[in-house]
Amino acid sequence: MSQLLDPDERALQTAVRDYLTAKVAPLVATHERERTFPWELLPQLYEFGYVRGVVSAELGGDAQSTMMQAILMEEAGRCWGSLRTTVNVQTMVARVLAAAATDEQRARFLDPLLAGERFGFFALTEAEAGSDAAALRTTARATGDEYALNGSKLYITNAMRADFGIVLARAVDADGTDLGVTAFLVERDVSSFGVFDIPHMPVRSTTSCELTFDGTRVPAANVLGPVGGGLSLAMNAVNMGRLNMAMGAVGLSQACLEASIAFCRSRQQFGKSIGGFQLVQQMVVDIATLTETSRLLGYQAARVLDAGEPGRYECSMAKYYCGESAGRAATLALQVHGGAGLMEESPVERYFRDAREATIPEGTSQIQVLHLGKALLGVSALR
Ligand SMILES: Cc1cc2nc3c(=O)[nH]c(=O)nc-3n(C[C@H](O)[C@H](O)[C@H](O)COP(=O)(O)OP(=O)(O)OC[C@H]3O[C@@H](n4cnc5c(N)ncnc54)[C@H](O)[C@@H]3O)c2cc1C
Repeated sequence: MSQLLDPDERALQTAVRDYLTAKVAPLVATHERERTFPWELLPQLYEFGYVRGVVSAELGGDAQSTMMQAILMEEAGRCWGSLRTTVNVQTMVARVLAAAATDEQRARFLDPLLAGERFGFFALTEAEAGSDAAALRTTARATGDEYALNGSKLYITNAMRADFGIVLARAVDADGTDLGVTAFLVERDVSSFGVFDIPHMPVRSTTSCELTFDGTRVPAANVLGPVGGGLSLAMNAVNMGRLNMAMGAVGLSQACLEASIAFCRSRQQFGKSIGGFQLVQQMVVDIATLTETSRLLGYQAARVLDAGEPGRYECSMAKYYCGESAGRAATLALQVHGGAGLMEESPVERYFRDAREATIPEGTSQIQVLHLGKALLGVSALR
């Protein structure tokens, strides 16, 4: 437990860690193997502040500090990458709804989301618009009191299970004038669109989906925020998403450390515990150092946001460093475990796969470097 936390923060960390260890960790191996997810557990987790914590009390949330949210994401990442990814997306949807939904939209989407009765997805990425998200081509043409969506989205987390999603599309008026990227609330039981699962390597208990829109009708009442204001809504949510991913990576590194220490204590070779070999100690110390430095950067970013600063630089640096470090920590943990680490029965095999996710969504490591480079040097290398 970190000395960097105040007593309330430490109490939350202990409570959520105990709960995840007792109730969720025993389910992970089976769900990963079967590529399923225990959605019914989420409302209980929301009691700790997952998802609800980012919404103000007036809107029905728990109004937690960013630091509390960082702790929750760290603990989710320590337990299960698929859980961390799932709550991260729900959190992002909750934040965007809280920022932009009308009273009527809040009653239909935010309230049931916070109650764990409805789940959402967040659809920005397209085949030709990944890191360059602003290049998205999906259109939403205004026709009377509806919009007709045409286009597709890629790698959308948990769209197979979600009840509705926030879809970013380029609004076009009846004359064909581009009104700018706009957010739409698209419901699976109201609007007709294709959802296809794409098998993927990490976070196997999530789905990663292609969505196809072919004249999909969406009521004008489901426009979220101002027409043309979709990208800034999305980018505001992405900053917090970066910190959430960073803290999930810290938790994953911590899990690598704990598994490696336990394995060193139990595994004997050449008549002694492998923890007694200097080269093995080097690997374990490197994992510990990566974990501690990652945690410091993540907590620092959370404190900066809690101080009311934008924190873009700190969130980018945390995402970059913690994500890359988790990859290195998982590689080392696997090496500490020898052949056992490559077997699916070892949690380290999962940590290794899940660590690959930490450097890609919410802006790849390279994109974070370019944000940081621009902040330091005043020159954008993006275009
Ligand atoms: C598991 C998973 C879940 C996801 N969930 C969602 C989701 O729920 N919703 C959603 O909208 N999206 C989601 N995504 C998409 C994710 O946000 C994108 O994958 C990510 O933004 C990168 O885009 P890309 O994959 O198209 O890579 P590209 O942008 O094609 O990048 C390919 C490579 O080129 C590099 N690169 C690109 N541009 C530059 C540049 N200017 N300078 C230097 N290097 C550059 C990248 O760093 C990368 O190494 C998810 C992705 C994954 C893998």
